[in-house]
Amino acid sequence: MMRTAAAALALLSASVGVSGLTARPADPPTSGPRIQQYIPPIPARYQGQLLTKRVRHFPKKLLALTFDDGPDPEITPRILKTLEEHNAYATFFVRGDNAERHPELLKQIIAGGHEIGDHSYSHEAVNSVDAAKEELRKTDDAIRRATGRDVRLFRPPRGVKNCELARQALKAGYVVALWTISSADSRPIGPDVIASNVIHTPNPGDIVIMHDGEGHAATTDALPKVLDALEKKGYRFVTLPELMGEWDRWLTQHPKGASRTVFRTR
Ligand SMILES: [Zn+2]
Repeated sequence: MMRTAAAALALLSASVGVSGLTARPADPPTSGPRIQQYIPPIPARYQGQLLTKRVRHFPKKLLALTFDDGPDPEITPRILKTLEEHNAYATFFVRGDNAERHPELLKQIIAGGHEIGDHSYSHEAVNSVDAAKEELRKTDDAIRRATGRDVRLFRPPRGVKNCELARQALKAGYVVALWTISSADSRPIGPDVIASNVIHTPNPGDIVIMHDGEGHAATTDALPKVLDALEKKGYRFVTLPELMGEWDRWLTQHPKGASRTVFRTR
């Protein structure tokens, strides 16, 4: 009896130990102004780098879904609910002006275990160094005020990688992340087309662009179809820092793969 109880106790503490090591804390934060969620490090090889393609031959069936232009009080909660139902994690590239208006949505994004990146303040092209720095600073301030998080990712508006915003972000050490699969959901297309654009032919390690924000109800309708179909193909959905961590581990174990990586410096 004692042995059984001891064994049960040992098992219990082992499982507690294991769950303590898992990437995501089981419980929401209980105290303090800073929201304590799992924050994966950005591997050194990606800091201050432009990410335009996936790592070729990366074998793990992981995808990074990204949602640009939010947060939005109608759309963001719907995206979050669907992600939660599928145990999926994503990255939200928010606009600073929207972030300032909806700090509660940023908190919800982080509480769901997702990542937030900077997508400029105004979504306008800016030409001067000072204006670009100001766009980054104002957006990051809004994110930090709401979540306590430092911002490590940037995506330029419309994916323009040679703009002043991207240059300043790279200089400041952000990962400037574009995408490798487009849902094309900034066009007026229906959920079925959006979904099939994503489901079409993903490869392990792809980065998918979709849109949050006003007018993107079709994207929220497409999302369950995307998740259902790709789950059936064995895919899991992770944040960009998690994906970079997996890339980094794989490249470290397969140094020859490093010569085939397709991210590049500024
Ligand atoms: Zn955008």
